[in-house]
Amino acid sequence: MKLVTNDVKGIVLVGGGVTSHISILSRSLKIPLVIVEEPKMLQLQEKTPILMDADLGNIYVNPSKAVVEQFEKRNQLREDAKCNTAKMDTVTRTKDGTRVGLFANINLLTELSIAKQLKAEGVGLYRSEFPFLIRPTFPSETEQYLVYQHLFKEMRGKEITIRTLDVGGEKTLTYSDMAEEQNPELGMRSIRFSLKHKEVFENQLRAILRAGFEADYLRIMFPMISSLDEFCEARQVVYDCMQQLSNKKMQYNRNPEICMMIELPAVVELIEDFSKEADFFSIGTNDFVQYMLAVDRTNRMVSDYYCPFHPSVLRALSKIVSVSRQCKVDISVCGEMTHDPAYLSFLLGIGIRKISVDPKFLFILQKRIQKIEIDEAEKHANQLLSEPSLQKIKTLIESTIG
Ligand code: PEP
Ligand code: MG
Repeated sequence: MKLVTNDVKGIVLVGGGVTSHISILSRSLKIPLVIVEEPKMLQLQEKTPILMDADLGNIYVNPSKAVVEQFEKRNQLREDAKCNTAKMDTVTRTKDGTRVGLFANINLLTELSIAKQLKAEGVGLYRSEFPFLIRPTFPSETEQYLVYQHLFKEMRGKEITIRTLDVGGEKTLTYSDMAEEQNPELGMRSIRFSLKHKEVFENQLRAILRAGFEADYLRIMFPMISSLDEFCEARQVVYDCMQQLSNKKMQYNRNPEICMMIELPAVVELIEDFSKEADFFSIGTNDFVQYMLAVDRTNRMVSDYYCPFHPSVLRALSKIVSVSRQCKVDISVCGEMTHDPAYLSFLLGIGIRKISVDPKFLFILQKRIQKIEIDEAEKHANQLLSEPSLQKIKTLIESTIG
């Protein structure tokens, strides 16, 4: 009773078990409880900030601002999801009945329950770097295996795309030998980091392949691919990992689809060639716009230059989608452009039929899609594509969204 009247927000039990009295009591009182077998917890100074994730049984001591923000976002999502679940249709169609797949971008495993409540058809982008960013050392293969296993269990039967480690740039690992770089966004980022640190890459790939043993649709996706050679090199590492697991007689997924993100202008002219090698493309518009326009996506001083509606961006997107559709390679978009009402009609108009978003946008996105006619969207897209002036495109977009 004292716990309730003192407004206790959570209990961390050092030792004990789920059936102990305190845990039964805390469950009845709806006070989150986490049990840790870590006596060091008892030596923490008073007032040390602790973040408890009682869903997964994790404790974060002195959590970083980024971790706290992720959890605050998750809490907000939960509130919104409660209101919208009942109003969400299982299948998303435009006004004229064209089917559009809605998938979730997942950073934290705890976002999965909201994605499921809001009927996401799968995970279009799992940003696998989060477990790497919150730990003091590289997570082991087993630790990663457990994370991915949870993901597959929660989304059983659904299509899951796991993006391999995308660190570097603004996402630095303090424990790695990542050198200070003058232009980190143009440096040892993403797939470049993975190919340089093969043991880290192989650990991750083996963990994904093993955890996805029974998964129906496993997609392994490489970020920031810049050439066909780089894609083939990364894919070969997947094959090598499969061979290693076979040699050890371990169970693993033998049919992963090998996919890539389209984030660099360098790949636009090679889409047809990539179509012969990759099983799936996902356009990461956040980086695509950044690299196309040479504008740091995190630098406020140049934010006016960060224009997803730049004619070269729009024309490149249209080309990518049309070539991949001709080549019959599945394609989706997973950057922030997807939930901006300014671009939805354009994206559908150029042929996008699969979208992956932060789960909090699933509901609003479905409702917007239901109001769009594909004929109209195509006309709108063609109008934007024929216009070379930034200002005129902006005015055209503003006049359509009202
Ligand atoms: C993107 O670049 O659009 C993307 C989805 O990847 P991230 O935002 O994680 O860089
Ligand atoms: Mg990116």
